[in-house]
Amino acid sequence: MNTTVLPVNPRYPQAKAIAAAARALQQGGLVAFPTETVYGLGANAMDADAIRRLYRAKQRPAGNPLIVHVADLAQLEGLAVDIPDPALQLAQRFWPGPLTLVLKRHPALPDLIAPQRDTVALRLPAHAVAQALIRATGHPLVAPSANRFARPSATRAAHVLADLEGRIDLLLDGGPTRIGLESTVLDLSRQAPVLLRPGAITLEQLRAQLADVRSGGAMLDLDDDDALPESPGQYRRHYSPRAELLLYEGEEGAVLAAMQDAVRAHAGRGRRVGLLGALPDLADCEQVSPGEGQEATGRGLFAALRELDARGVDVILARLEESGGLGAAINDRLRRAAEGRIIRV
Ligand code: AMP
Ligand code: MG
Repeated sequence: MNTTVLPVNPRYPQAKAIAAAARALQQGGLVAFPTETVYGLGANAMDADAIRRLYRAKQRPAGNPLIVHVADLAQLEGLAVDIPDPALQLAQRFWPGPLTLVLKRHPALPDLIAPQRDTVALRLPAHAVAQALIRATGHPLVAPSANRFARPSATRAAHVLADLEGRIDLLLDGGPTRIGLESTVLDLSRQAPVLLRPGAITLEQLRAQLADVRSGGAMLDLDDDDALPESPGQYRRHYSPRAELLLYEGEEGAVLAAMQDAVRAHAGRGRRVGLLGALPDLADCEQVSPGEGQEATGRGLFAALRELDARGVDVILARLEESGGLGAAINDRLRRAAEGRIIRV
């Protein structure tokens, strides 16, 4: 299969490009497109065959649930049932935006979007390309991250091509994505609201709207998109660079000293070492910084991991963020990518 790449203005998407992408989706094809979080791999949510193709393209085990993307609140009606008031309040407050709500599913949806459950995850993305594409297609779209199974999510068109060229019909290249981390996932289908995945809408922001949101699902999330089924209690491999990622937690000076020791030890065994960050005092390692500050770190995290892989390092050292605000989401992705290799100094 040839993958067509169409450049598109991220704010004022060209009607021609959107129409071509919508046509491909209406015919059961797969189209990667930018959202404000990461690039999504879109398929018509009402088309079970297209969804099967999507699982195959990503090499993702069937059974992992998908997020259904809508272009306006009115579309919720045909997708969810028994929608609780807090869901509507949160949608009013945070949509369009990086918040996914898990609700009770409407029977019209194919079972494949969330096999063996009676729920559906829904989101209205805040990106002109995503919205125009959903509208032009005339159907909601499932759109998991446009990367191969267990790889870091794609935040640039080049990442999509590196993982999926020749496996998907079309890519709308709208430049790098603004947030860079996948959406916050909040389950409102049970008695108490549970945060399943931290994201740019923080736990603090959710609690300001809905006092009883429980966190905790995040690291134990059995529903996770690309997670490999592993034994209980283990971190799941996800967002992973090819290199081994080692995380450091602790006071800055101590972390720097421990990293310098690690560089020496690994180099002594002939391994190439990379650093996720910029530390002029740390010698003899490849350094790629995602950016300064939490927002820039979130935006550049996956690109930096991919860049370190491209430079051929065997091991990547990184420091965990402060846990408040966006730090929770960044650390969640780092921990999964590191499969639990955390060094406390
Ligand atoms: P992605 O589409 O790659 O951003 O990831 C999908 C995420 O949505 C996974 O982490 C799932 O945990 C979550 N998700 C999707 N559908 C459901 C559902 N019906 N119930 C619970 N979680 C879901
Ligand atoms: Mg994913």
